[in-house]
Amino acid sequence: MKFYENIIDTIGSTPLIRLHRVLPPETQPLVLAKTESFNPGGSAKDRIAKAMLLAAEHDGKIQKGGTVVEPTSGNTGVGLALFAASRGYRMVFTMPEKMSKDKELLLRAFGAEVIRTPTNVPPEDERSYYKVAEKVAKETPGSFVPNQFANQNNPQAHFATTGPEIWKDTDGEITHFVAGIGTGGTISGTARYLKAKNPDVKIIGVDPEGSIYHHVFYGTPPESHPYKVEGTGEDFIPATVDLDIVDDIIVVSDADAFRTTRRLAREEGILAGGTAGASVFAAAQVAQNLKKDDLVVVLLPDTGRNYITTIFNDEWMKNNGFGDVI
Ligand code: PMP
Repeated sequence: MKFYENIIDTIGSTPLIRLHRVLPPETQPLVLAKTESFNPGGSAKDRIAKAMLLAAEHDGKIQKGGTVVEPTSGNTGVGLALFAASRGYRMVFTMPEKMSKDKELLLRAFGAEVIRTPTNVPPEDERSYYKVAEKVAKETPGSFVPNQFANQNNPQAHFATTGPEIWKDTDGEITHFVAGIGTGGTISGTARYLKAKNPDVKIIGVDPEGSIYHHVFYGTPPESHPYKVEGTGEDFIPATVDLDIVDDIIVVSDADAFRTTRRLAREEGILAGGTAGASVFAAAQVAQNLKKDDLVVVLLPDTGRNYITTIFNDEWMKNNGFGDVI
């Protein structure tokens, strides 16, 4: 018989899929998409949810009847929710208003409680999704806040799984890794593993216009403003990101990110989210300057099912000024 003991055991071992039609025809190297939508919760965040909660159980920080509380833009919430549901924990998530209604309903499907907070308030404001989560946790006995922005099990999960999977599946031939930066867990943990195997592997971060990462990286004056891409970019530097391990950061606009996301679905049959589009747009730029024996891996963090009413909705694209849609 072949079966998994529970849903948690199905996390990871996602496929690398070759990209063809979204790349310029003259592209020489292989460009492979690490397609994280194959995780049970539909995103790379299942990996960190599992790592953070297993560690908490191991350390006695969460016990039977406990409550998981987390400020999340959605995907980490889904990962935590499927873990919590399979263990019987209660869960409360806080989420900024800008995130899609789909993401909220998805969390509720697992039995979670969701609290919406204003989008454009600084992290230290008591109305921010970080602060509201802190308050809920303080008021809830037996609660545990995984805190993906500070928890080192976040990058560690990618060091232990994403990095080794990419190394093994490319037979150690990878030369460039491209990924968006939100908490920085994905890029930092994966890079740490890949660079330990081969220090010459180049690590390229992808940042939305309006985030501060590229300003910090290039030493230009930080200037943060709202953007529509969900899941990457920050207005502060979390403890989970290691910018020293990043070789370059490419800035991608919402419009380029969303158009590429739509092309991924229509031209490759890969339904992924906006940060995947941004990273593929950046990976195509990187690949243009490379040779046949280079090998680019670009990480596609989540499924496009989260964005059916936004990125994949012509009306929404037009109303948000992303022009003529393809
Ligand atoms: N894309 C999406 C859709 C995400 O939800 C996240 C997580 N915030 C990221 C990219 C970035 O991943 P990380 O937090 O590991 O940097």
